[in-house]
Amino acid sequence: MHTSNRCVFFDRDGIVNVSPGPGNYVTRWEDFHLLPEFVEALRIVRARGYQAAIVTNQRAVARGLVSLAEVEAMHRRLRDLLLKSYSLDLLDVACCPHDKGVCDCRKPSPGMLLATAARHGLDLAASWMVGDAETDIEAGRRAGCRTILVKDAEAISKADWRVTAMKDLPALLERVL
Ligand SMILES: [Mg+2]
Ligand SMILES: [Zn+2]
Repeated sequence: MHTSNRCVFFDRDGIVNVSPGPGNYVTRWEDFHLLPEFVEALRIVRARGYQAAIVTNQRAVARGLVSLAEVEAMHRRLRDLLLKSYSLDLLDVACCPHDKGVCDCRKPSPGMLLATAARHGLDLAASWMVGDAETDIEAGRRAGCRTILVKDAEAISKADWRVTAMKDLPALLERVL
């Protein structure tokens, strides 16, 4: 087990698992489709001595479409799967279950990164945020992390680095971490 205080924070939907699409939510484990490119990325992150954590907005909880307990159960199954099938561990999974505009944790606010860093003694200036939305990039920047956007080239972004698809993320991580 690594004891590094550097961390790569990953957004969830669209990065860890197949995005359910705008306005849709993954509410059942049966609909949680792990991306093999994420597994490859996580392997590189851990091999380079970084911790890895997930920071995810799940407004579906506030909207009553799924309970926080069900979301947390999915995250336990995910961590279990990563550990048992791939021998890869996550330091933490942080979830904002709130609606827009009522908390300090929903991205683009940096609250989940700040809280995870405080809990585990992480060095945010030596850490990274990877996401497929500009709100992920903003949260990462506000937390003082370097940022990687996974999105097609048309969108304008403040990210430090960018790849157009998850298949290109592992190679970028190998270069920059
Ligand atoms: Mg996403
Ligand atoms: Zn929140």
